[in-house]
Amino acid sequence: MTGFIGTGFVYLHFTLLRSTISAFARRKIIYHGDMSEPLSSGPAPSSIPLRELARRLRRFLPGNALLDAPEDLHPYECDGLSAYRQLPGLVALPETIEQVQQILRLCSEYRVPVVARGAGTGLSGGALPHENGVLLSLAKFNRILEIDPLNRTATVQPGVRNLAISEAAAPHGLYYAPDPSSQIACSIGGNVAENAGGVHCLKYGLTVHNLLGLKFITIAGELVTLGGKTLDNPGYDLLALLTGSEGMLGVIVEVTVKLLPKPERAQVVLAAFDDLEKAGHAVAAIIGAGVIPAGLEMMDKLAIRAAEDYVHAGYPVEAQAILLCELDGTNEEVSEGMAQVRELLVKQGASEVRTAKDDTERLRMWAGRKAAFPAVGRISPDYYCMDGTIPRQHLASVLKRISELSGEYGLQVANVFHAGDGNLHPLILYDANKPGELERTEELGGKILELCVEVGGTITGEHGVGMEKINQMCVQFTAAELTQFHAIKAAFDPFGLLNPGKAVPTLHRCAEFGRLHVHGGKLAFPELERF
Ligand SMILES: Cc1cc2nc3c(=O)[nH]c(=O)nc-3n(C[C@H](O)[C@H](O)[C@H](O)COP(=O)(O)OP(=O)(O)OC[C@H]3O[C@@H](n4cnc5c(N)ncnc54)[C@H](O)[C@@H]3O)c2cc1C
Repeated sequence: MTGFIGTGFVYLHFTLLRSTISAFARRKIIYHGDMSEPLSSGPAPSSIPLRELARRLRRFLPGNALLDAPEDLHPYECDGLSAYRQLPGLVALPETIEQVQQILRLCSEYRVPVVARGAGTGLSGGALPHENGVLLSLAKFNRILEIDPLNRTATVQPGVRNLAISEAAAPHGLYYAPDPSSQIACSIGGNVAENAGGVHCLKYGLTVHNLLGLKFITIAGELVTLGGKTLDNPGYDLLALLTGSEGMLGVIVEVTVKLLPKPERAQVVLAAFDDLEKAGHAVAAIIGAGVIPAGLEMMDKLAIRAAEDYVHAGYPVEAQAILLCELDGTNEEVSEGMAQVRELLVKQGASEVRTAKDDTERLRMWAGRKAAFPAVGRISPDYYCMDGTIPRQHLASVLKRISELSGEYGLQVANVFHAGDGNLHPLILYDANKPGELERTEELGGKILELCVEVGGTITGEHGVGMEKINQMCVQFTAAELTQFHAIKAAFDPFGLLNPGKAVPTLHRCAEFGRLHVHGGKLAFPELERF
């Protein structure tokens, strides 16, 4: 058994989350100031002949595959990070690889920006459209091309939903391991572009570790194949480079992933703590003991209460924190591991340690965790989901500092996250209708990300950089490193047309943000204007 919960059940939660997002959408539309920033290599917006491009696109795209009426563009104005909105110039919905090639060739010819879009569940604004660009939806690329049980691989089109791969593989006793909480909706193309993670990635790896092959199309319209069904391939590891590239290097049109046999048994233990720090230490103790859980998740008091009120998972609502630790494998492995984990949890001061009696209880325990985001959406008009990763030994101190920052900013923070990976998801609760609250939220979010970097971590665990964390890239990387990123981008996309303005900041932007690194007292790139 794997840790999936019923599709209809999750769908309900996802629908609620989307309704939270769209309720916010109706109330407040924010055009983020950063959108006006000139791009280092992108086109000048005023010079883009979108109308002429649309005329050329209509020659080969079916009538309903090109949208330009405002009412048709609105559904594409944001992804899961609905605080940032922008109507695209055009939306293209191609169905074939040849159509994608032609679209990209024409966009290249007219120097029109292109933003690829999967299911639009991204949480960092990666699929935020460009006002003078084409939003290239891969929604119609939704076919499973092959399930190969002998090779244990699946080859699918990029618009296929993450969970649909496991559903298609299930009759062969196989499944696809990376399981983002959004798995009923998010697309595998979006997963590759974000290097998505999930509860089970602690043991089975992120998307990049489960990917064997890709087909993508360059901005010049060339079809490139990377990898295939085998484990290693000669040449530079471009497969890894494309993974997590956030639609900036090419448009993915086919994906081959590994499938794993379903484990014989899975069991979960819930541990309650009267202190957040103790829970943090317990995570470090489990990993330090050499146990590799299939999932090791933490929720703090606010998240526990929200989830319990919503799905009645049986969580101890008085606890300051809970850990959910799942082990899978053979019967013997799981029994042995469970005994070890229970002992460790007790030693670390857990006030309650409860093992799921059967699969129904196990799924109920996970249901609370999987529904935690929409559950938090019920207790606050808006929330902002952060995503940073830290070395696990710093969990306790970082959680303490987040709680202090929450007090300083007067904004509640709920923590629900992949503790085993050190991947934090602080959810900052705010009300977009209160003047200045979104700005304070963004500032607090930025502080949390910088805290992650300070302790040796990173500003993203699985949600990508997109628009959301672009300023913090200036904190994470030096000017020399960012320059290398730009060089790689330029090698694939010389005119900077693919998802411009996302993920990798210009050095000008870092100067403006005041975060160009100063080494040995010498200011890097002194020729850049400081604001
Ligand atoms: C409730 C909720 C829970 C979530 N939980 C998790 C989680 O546990 N783990 C996790 O990792 N994420 C999670 N996410 C975030 C999100 O689901 C993932 O980032 C997911 O991978 C995005 O997939 P998508 O198809 O929606 O991509 P989109 O949002 O459409 O796009 C994301 C990025 O990928 C690019 N892109 C999309 N398709 C292609 C393509 N074919 N070729 C090139 N570039 C492309 C876009 O340009 C954009 O930069 C969650 C989101 C929500 C709303």
